[in-house]
Amino acid sequence: MEIFADFDLTPCNTFAVASRARAFCTVREQADLLQALAYAVEQDLPLLVLGGGSNVLFIDDYPGLVVHMAMPGIERLEQDDNRVLLQVGAGENWHNLVMWCLRKGFYGIENLALIPGTVGAAPIQNIGAYGVELATVFACLTALEANSGEFWTFQRDDCQFGYRDSVFKHGRPGELIITTVTLQLSLAPVPVTDYRTLHEELERRHGDSVPSPQQVADAVIAIRQSKLPDPARLPNCGSFFKNPVIDQATFQTLSARYDRIPVFPVPDQPGQIKIPAAWLLDQAGWKGRRQGAAGVHREQAVVLVNHGGASGAELLALARDMQAAVLDRFGIALEPEVRIVQGSGG
Ligand SMILES: Cc1cc2nc3c(=O)[nH]c(=O)nc-3n(C[C@H](O)[C@H](O)[C@H](O)COP(=O)(O)OP(=O)(O)OC[C@H]3O[C@@H](n4cnc5c(N)ncnc54)[C@H](O)[C@@H]3O)c2cc1C
Repeated sequence: MEIFADFDLTPCNTFAVASRARAFCTVREQADLLQALAYAVEQDLPLLVLGGGSNVLFIDDYPGLVVHMAMPGIERLEQDDNRVLLQVGAGENWHNLVMWCLRKGFYGIENLALIPGTVGAAPIQNIGAYGVELATVFACLTALEANSGEFWTFQRDDCQFGYRDSVFKHGRPGELIITTVTLQLSLAPVPVTDYRTLHEELERRHGDSVPSPQQVADAVIAIRQSKLPDPARLPNCGSFFKNPVIDQATFQTLSARYDRIPVFPVPDQPGQIKIPAAWLLDQAGWKGRRQGAAGVHREQAVVLVNHGGASGAELLALARDMQAAVLDRFGIALEPEVRIVQGSGG
């Protein structure tokens, strides 16, 4: 495995932000990973794992070793009449896995079609869309602990999955490197269609009939393509902010001032309400605004975009102004969903 010095990360992040890594390597097997780890220790370099780069914002150059995760493989560990256990390499592309599962008749992740990135990154923020989260189908994962060089298995409870959250988001960067993810999928269709926009799209396409998993995936793909900018054309990282979870008192105060606030229930936190960051930002007038080459998408106020040549620092400055405006107007603190990587290892 080759280790490159002074490597250009611009094509490795979907914000297309210019940044360079002091060292860079692509790991395709366990031996590569151990070699990368030994190199980082020997050279005393911090380590950052990168999958598809669709949830990171580089603020400046990275002073350590960037390990590009490309470990492949899909292995059927167990199967009975009802379910299958699949162990998937961390470097597999998430959307390709969704499509592969549909072809094989393995169901449960069709609502997560077209989410960019790798399988290994999926547990980090417990990816979710259209009423389904990774946690729903997650069985376990294996991760290499950088400090000890040992491999550990994390069962579902160990991962502490929450809304766009898991235990892996809170450790030191590079501390745990996910190498495989095991999913438990159903052999019978389990359509989850109650998410409003998905429900409406399916009704428009198929009337009252129960949609097949492929039809659900097709509808999800169509909605995503119509709503979200393609990073290949307009670089972005999807939603920049998480949807804030607020209490009843804050919600009552807001309701007194605004009609028809969109809300989502928070099943595991009674009395709490999730409201879309996009709605707050839209009310505050951020849709389509620009600060130089850093901008806000014209249809999606929660999506920051790079109009060409924006630096990570410019995008971050825009994000901070948006957070300040929402705090000032609504008293609500928006939290970034995207991982902000600063030179210190961030
Ligand atoms: C257009 C667009 C739409 C999106 N829509 C959604 C959506 O609907 N739902 C959603 O949840 N997300 C969405 N995202 C965000 C993103 O796709 C997911 O967070 C995805 O899981 C990131 O995968 P990645 O491989 O690109 O991760 P990267 O951006 O490469 O990394 C993200 C973080 O995970 C860490 N990491 C990556 N791989 C590993 C590993 N193997 N071991 C340890 N740490 C690792 C990185 O160090 C970094 O901290 C969207 C992004 C875009 C650009």
